[in-house]
Amino acid sequence: MQKTESYMRALRCRECGREYPLTATHVCEFDFGPLEVVYDYDLIQRRLTRAALASRPQTMWRYRELLPVVDEPTVGLQVGFTPLIKADRLARRLGIRELWIKNDAVNYPSLSFKDRVVSVALSRSRELGFDTVACASTGNLANSVAANAASAGLRAYVFIPSDLEQGKILNSLIYGARVIGIRGHYDEVNRLCAEIAGKFGWAFVNVNMRPYYAEGSKSMAFEIVEQLGWQVPKHTVVCMASGSLLTKIRKGYEEFLKLGLAPETEHRIHGAQATGCSPISTAHKAGLDFFKPVKPDTIAKSLAIGTPADGFYALKAIKETGGAAEDVTDDEIREGMRLLAECEGIFAETAGGVTVGVAKKLIAAGVIPAEDSAVLCITGNGLKTLDAVTGCVGQPREIKPSLREFEALVANEETVTA
Ligand SMILES: *Cc1c(COP(=O)(O)O)cnc(C)c1O
Ligand SMILES: [Zn+2]
Repeated sequence: MQKTESYMRALRCRECGREYPLTATHVCEFDFGPLEVVYDYDLIQRRLTRAALASRPQTMWRYRELLPVVDEPTVGLQVGFTPLIKADRLARRLGIRELWIKNDAVNYPSLSFKDRVVSVALSRSRELGFDTVACASTGNLANSVAANAASAGLRAYVFIPSDLEQGKILNSLIYGARVIGIRGHYDEVNRLCAEIAGKFGWAFVNVNMRPYYAEGSKSMAFEIVEQLGWQVPKHTVVCMASGSLLTKIRKGYEEFLKLGLAPETEHRIHGAQATGCSPISTAHKAGLDFFKPVKPDTIAKSLAIGTPADGFYALKAIKETGGAAEDVTDDEIREGMRLLAECEGIFAETAGGVTVGVAKKLIAAGVIPAEDSAVLCITGNGLKTLDAVTGCVGQPREIKPSLREFEALVANEETVTA
């Protein structure tokens, strides 16, 4: 990899274009627009070539020039380069010619796509001299901050709604993070964290560090393009909470096109939400540019953000790429989880059920044409949301330790299925 060199130039307001120095700050002082990292693409184009990539380790950091750190990264060095799986059996079930699963349910170390954003945020936090990191989370972010902070020797405070799945709570506590359960929904957690961030001098990965943090999501897009043999897929289905991942998948594709790493092609980005928390898909379906905040009520707790910070930009990205947005009920989410598990052997969390359920709907409606190819972004692991499917997947059949009983069971099964 190239020697230490910064490819970042500034932070820039997405609304008015004013530029800011590369510090821990996230909103424009003039119009409160979100700040975004600006890069020197001419320099990057000379360094980030297919030839250079060939000899780099298979982690998200192989695209280091397009990730917002100045020095070599120090946290989450093993994150990313998750499998891209050709899902032929699921493709047949959903009625599409070709389907791929980008499987971040097995991301290292905390089994969700959040390891990508956290690895960037904590590496950058260290560069800026912070010793305490924090986040407002719907669960997976807390897990990832807790795990990555532990391995980096950073102090971590994670703030979550107190009614999260047991699996998500335990997966933060085990690492020794200070876990604060807030009696309220995510949007209230987030509001409190904005106040805390202003008062305590901590690096809040998705508050004052958000411009850097969010860039980590682009690595999912980079990997998809490289793993498809340097092609941007025609259709990508992405589930949405704040809408940040979706906007950054698009940015990732467009950076690779701009750098000449893949040929120009049409690439539609489709957004997926749970009906019980669907401010973005509802706005898109109504043809609106702005969403109306909602109070979440869904089993897809990782996506339960009623006031999505990047909702406006996600709507824009969906519209500008010619994509669609859809949402699915809790039952359809469970069905999506089962379909993915039964067809491909992948146990995704509820958010994955949202992505599969929405893909099924879009294919059935012809919005994603049957003769096309699509990539589904699977973002989290089912072992963390066992509560969601408990009681819906049948029970083991119990017998005595007797061959006769087993033979009777099989014989009975044969007559049932015959
Ligand atoms: C956080 C999260 C997302 C998407 O988050 P955005 O806020 O839209 O970037 C998707 N899936 C899972 C499992 C998540 O934890
Ligand atoms: Zn501005």
